[in-house]
Amino acid sequence: EEQNLYAEQKTKELEKAKKELEIYSEELKQSSQYKTNFLANMSHELRTPLNSILILSQLLSENENRTLSPEEEGYARVIHTSGNDLLTLIDDILDLSKVEAGKITLTVDEVNVTEIPVHMKLSFDPIAEKNGLSFYVFVESDVPDLLHTDGQRLQQILKNLLSNAFKFTDKGSVTLKIQNADPHKIKELLPSHDTGDVLAISVTDTGIGIPSNKQQLIFEAFQQVDGNTNRQYGGTGLGLSICHEFTRLLGGCIVLESRPNEGSTFTLYIPSMQNRGKELLATAHQE
Ligand code: ADP
Repeated sequence: EEQNLYAEQKTKELEKAKKELEIYSEELKQSSQYKTNFLANMSHELRTPLNSILILSQLLSENENRTLSPEEEGYARVIHTSGNDLLTLIDDILDLSKVEAGKITLTVDEVNVTEIPVHMKLSFDPIAEKNGLSFYVFVESDVPDLLHTDGQRLQQILKNLLSNAFKFTDKGSVTLKIQNADPHKIKELLPSHDTGDVLAISVTDTGIGIPSNKQQLIFEAFQQVDGNTNRQYGGTGLGLSICHEFTRLLGGCIVLESRPNEGSTFTLYIPSMQNRGKELLATAHQE
């Protein structure tokens, strides 16, 4: 009798706790939703005035009527570059909050693999030239022509990795290489992958490198090797966490090998997302 009463009481307590948990998790969901909506609205509101700043500073810096002195033209260029940096920051924060809220929409399509390096050359050759670095791209001959993935997101990941490579390298080269992933690596890194192609896309630089005790940390938001306020390199520490989250959404992973003063290689393992719809809502939390 006593035991039954005890069991009954415990069941009641358990049910009460369960209900409370449901209420809390609902509240948590809602506040996360508020945060995402707030960030989305904010970024829209910030972007509108920023666009005027960007367009007008561009016009000024072109200085077509020669009304500005060279010094003033330089100021206009700085306004334009800073405005662009701010825009990137706003986009990055919004992207991360969308991933957190499970609200990133992937557009999976047939991506032409050989076009990837062509786009990257267009974007980064000028930077390589400006910094006195070589920029090499290699595509192994046996890689498939087409890969089922979100091409826009893949480009965004690669641009982040390449920007870092150029930023943290003062002499030597940056190399982008696309090859088929080694089957052993696929088994080790993507154990749930069953069929279909997996590409290994690597970005190698001959730059400052990353100490081994920081190699995991830098994939977290706002983390940098040099986090001092008077640090040498600009940036927000968001780029790699975006790379990390997006790669995960694409069903892949990133591997980092690096030695201080020798350089770094970031390798992306990206599987072909077969058997998936063209449009899908990727929910980061469901993993
Ligand atoms: P950001 O570049 O804006 O600081 P990231 O998230 O892209 O942010 O990178 C985080 C940190 O990782 C950088 O601040 C830097 O310390 C380190 N890092 C990233 N890529 C490289 C690289 N190719 N070489 C050396 N350090 C790097």
